Amino acid sequence: MVEKYGIPQISTGDMLRDHVRRATEVGRSVEHLMKAGSLVPDELVNRMVHERLEAPDCENGFILDGYPRTPQQAEELATELVKHHTLECVIHLVVDPAEIVERMSGRRVCPACGTLYNSLSRRPAQEGICDQDGATLEIRNDDRPEIVKARLEEYEARTAPVIGYFRGAGVKIIEVNASRRTPEQIFAGIQQELARGGAQ
Ligand code: AMP
Repeated sequence: MVEKYGIPQISTGDMLRDHVRRATEVGRSVEHLMKAGSLVPDELVNRMVHERLEAPDCENGFILDGYPRTPQQAEELATELVKHHTLECVIHLVVDPAEIVERMSGRRVCPACGTLYNSLSRRPAQEGICDQDGATLEIRNDDRPEIVKARLEEYEARTAPVIGYFRGAGVKIIEVNASRRTPEQIFAGIQQELARGGAQ
């Protein structure tokens, strides 16, 4: 989507992991929550996204990934953060929970360039090594099954209600089946929905 639409992907998870890696004040305050699979405080994430959206590369639009994760964050987005932008649509990728656990257990990430691999669907040419830069691939420490379970519980309790919030606020929601599909098929599904007038 970044390539096709020429707009940046803004992942709050990536931003937070970067803080943890650099051991900033923010990083030190959220590390234990992330390790446990819990959400970090709304105020902190809202502030981070606020600052990020002011960067020049967001002028023509952006894709928020992993944000908002609570109705409070959704409200901040719909009322404050979009003052200089339009909230065009929400893309809801629907995946069977058992498949989420399976995918996360296979996920490997390059610590140098961030390229994602998966032992089930997207293997590197050489096992455990990044195709781009030869770095040794890592497993995210919150991708272990017991932590994934906590993340899914957090999703059900705190993030699932976000859909209801957006529905109530009249925001366009595109629902795409992302189970048992390749990234290419899911992207095609998103484009199809967008073309059908999902986004206004
Ligand atoms: P992700 O990479 O999106 O799976 O996020 C990894 C972890 O970062 C989550 O389990 C949370 O601990 C934290 N996180 C990321 N985005 C948010 C958010 N919008 N609100 C609260 N916590 C977040």
